Amino acid sequence: MMEIYIGCVSPHVPALRTDHMRLVWHAPFQGEGRVRVIAWTCHCRATVYELCHASGIAYLRRTVQLEGAPEVHETYRWTFSVAEGVWVALLQGRVR
Ligand SMILES: [Zn+2]
Repeated sequence: MMEIYIGCVSPHVPALRTDHMRLVWHAPFQGEGRVRVIAWTCHCRATVYELCHASGIAYLRRTVQLEGAPEVHETYRWTFSVAEGVWVALLQGRVR
């Protein structure tokens, strides 16, 4: 179940399930040209996740909104359908 709060339109990442899988988070690769952000979690939380699409590949981006410079990490590159599956799993608390 996704949590819904008054004033928030985007989903929140729920509590992790005990059987969750850990994603590997890398420093941003960059150099992929135009990146389209397809979906994102609510910006009211310190950590924001985004589903990104760039020239045939897709990945998740995690931004921790720190004072000063935000901390950005990204997953491996996948096909869009794989990345979408990981995105759904994230919103279900099955991966993080
Ligand atoms: Zn929110």
